Amino acid sequence: MNKGANIIDGKAIAATIKDELILDTEQFFQNTKIQPKLSVIILGQDPASLFYVRMIEKTCQKVNFQFEKHALSSKISEDELLELIKQQNNDNKVHGIIIQTPLPKHINQEKIQRALNPGKDVDCFNPVNMGNLAMGNPVFLPCTPNAVVEILKRENIEVEGKHVVIVGRSNIVGKPLALILLLKQPNANATVTVCHSRTTNISSFTRKADIIVAAAGKAGLIKGDMVENNPVVIDVGTNEVEGKLVGDVDFDEVSKVVSKITPVPGGVGPVTNMMLMKNTLRAAKNMTEKVY
Ligand code: NAD
Repeated sequence: MNKGANIIDGKAIAATIKDELILDTEQFFQNTKIQPKLSVIILGQDPASLFYVRMIEKTCQKVNFQFEKHALSSKISEDELLELIKQQNNDNKVHGIIIQTPLPKHINQEKIQRALNPGKDVDCFNPVNMGNLAMGNPVFLPCTPNAVVEILKRENIEVEGKHVVIVGRSNIVGKPLALILLLKQPNANATVTVCHSRTTNISSFTRKADIIVAAAGKAGLIKGDMVENNPVVIDVGTNEVEGKLVGDVDFDEVSKVVSKITPVPGGVGPVTNMMLMKNTLRAAKNMTEKVY
């Protein structure tokens, strides 16, 4: 590892946000006697999903949120799942709902996401929330893209007027991140290029970037020779290679030629969790303020 590079400590940023959230939650409770509650729906026994849900539960405990898990069989029918979502939507004590993906093949994911009350959609998957973001008027920001923006903000990295090159155009990361960075607000107002699997000559874009965000899910995609003029590099990718978690960026090569870089693990991931908690608290506040 290059000792010269300025490595961004995602865990430390997440710890600071956690302390802020504890205070904010306490204040909210003092004012309303409401404890934010997150409800997670998980189908089947996928180990990665179960691990993620356990992590969410622990994070909820740390910030004094209530947590409720609905662990269902992967054989549950779409109608049964829709009925549970309806019940959670109507439960005033539940402020945020997550439906863990991927869902089994017999369930229409888009239909499920549309069924979620947009006011409780703390993952920001419902098209209403994506639409609000696209129109420049978001209520919730999707957790992973928001974590990227939060890291840039807390590291005092100027975004306004800068050229951000995003590699990846998924609905979860690349596309909403582009929309957030285009917002007319502080820590945004960027010039954004989105590269994807059909982009020819990605390095011709990454070499011109002030900030590169890698979110393709391809280990080692961003090499040292794809980077020029010491940009900031944020690595969203999480890939398992020979039992080790690595990002999309060839860290050893790229860290030598950047001003700042996030590692994997310990970069974007821990901050993403905190963004989920922030959205849940936001949802609880919105319910008391009747935003939706
Ligand atoms: P996805 O598979 O849905 O989308 C990947 C995107 O990358 C696609 O738009 C595709 O066009 C693009 N792409 C794929 N190969 C490419 C290539 N060779 N060159 C250029 N573009 C390419 O994945 P996703 O859900 O957006 O996740 C992306 C990565 O981020 C994954 O590794 C995922 O595990 C990780 N992730 C991390 C967090 C976190 O909190 N750290 C959260 C969500 C996702």
